[in-house]
Amino acid sequence: MSALPNNSPTSLVRPAIAAIDGYVPGEQPQAGKWVKLNTNENPYAPSPAVARALAATAAGRTLAKYPDSTATAFRRRAAEVLGVEPDWIICGNGSDDLLTILVRTFVGESECLRMPYPSYILYRTLAGIQGAGCDEVHYQRDWSLGEDFTRPRDDLRLAIIANPNSPSGTLLPPARVAEIAARLPCAVVVDEAYGDFSETNCLGLVKDNPRVIVTRSFSKSYALAGLRFGFAVAQPAMIEQLLKVKDSYNCDTLSIAAATAAIDDQAWLADNRVKIIATRRRLIDALRGLGFEALESQANFVWFTHPSRPHKPIYEALKAQGILIRFMNYAGWGDGLRVTVGTDDEIDAFLTCLKTI
Ligand SMILES: *Cc1c(COP(=O)(O)O)cnc(C)c1O
Repeated sequence: MSALPNNSPTSLVRPAIAAIDGYVPGEQPQAGKWVKLNTNENPYAPSPAVARALAATAAGRTLAKYPDSTATAFRRRAAEVLGVEPDWIICGNGSDDLLTILVRTFVGESECLRMPYPSYILYRTLAGIQGAGCDEVHYQRDWSLGEDFTRPRDDLRLAIIANPNSPSGTLLPPARVAEIAARLPCAVVVDEAYGDFSETNCLGLVKDNPRVIVTRSFSKSYALAGLRFGFAVAQPAMIEQLLKVKDSYNCDTLSIAAATAAIDDQAWLADNRVKIIATRRRLIDALRGLGFEALESQANFVWFTHPSRPHKPIYEALKAQGILIRFMNYAGWGDGLRVTVGTDDEIDAFLTCLKTI
């Protein structure tokens, strides 16, 4: 007689899955009127060219067919904008999809992914899904990376650096990232989800180092978080390997058309960037005026702490007034608050409420 099957999901799934906590994204309330400054969405409407592209694509029989599996139209246009060739680009269903592809490509069971800490916690989750280790190297107090980030390790297969970093909004200079990448023996991903808001970026490193991969997102700078589109740039031989790992149709026809229209409208991007950066300046100065320590930011959010007040009650009091920001508590590091650069009106509402707390 065979033993009864064990129906407990935690014993049915791979041990690596049972062992991890799933990644928990920021709250996305589906009802009610919120001033939503918690997940770094762009507060403005995307380029009007996006709606036109979506309408044109939805008409007729286009959607009856499978999408172009490598988003050729997008890659052609993006290549012109970025100054590379189309075969240097792979597209994804948001840059999170590309991060999944990258971790699956490089990091096997019992191997290791290295990331700075604190940073985007999804990297740790993706390593966990692989049954791999995550080597979290603490940022220095000034948010630079020390020599311990490049120390050798036999099982090291991939390093991921968010640059600008979240939650700090700080940027490692491209020359420093180039140095780190040159010293590391493994593939190095520079997650530039916020790269369009920063003064410099690491796209140029891809040409010099075949191990460097830069990822970009349409969720923040292009105001298309609901669309799900991102891409990565690397040398063609590297892209060829990544293409083997992605789902055949990881980007749908609508998102490819919309993202192509969005990247074609660089005037919209430049105008939006100016607005966000101006509001960011005002926000940082106002927070400092209220006695907070607010970091200079190269992204569309600001990390701030108070020298004496506990942070969680501030987050809670704002939430009670309908203003959602992010309270972050990093084990072994400390906690703080992250606020997205919203419209000027949203930031005024946030600051007015903060003054009363
Ligand atoms: C928002 C964010 C992403 C995810 O971007 P999507 O394109 O929406 O998947 C990736 N990395 C970092 C650091 C982010 O903040």
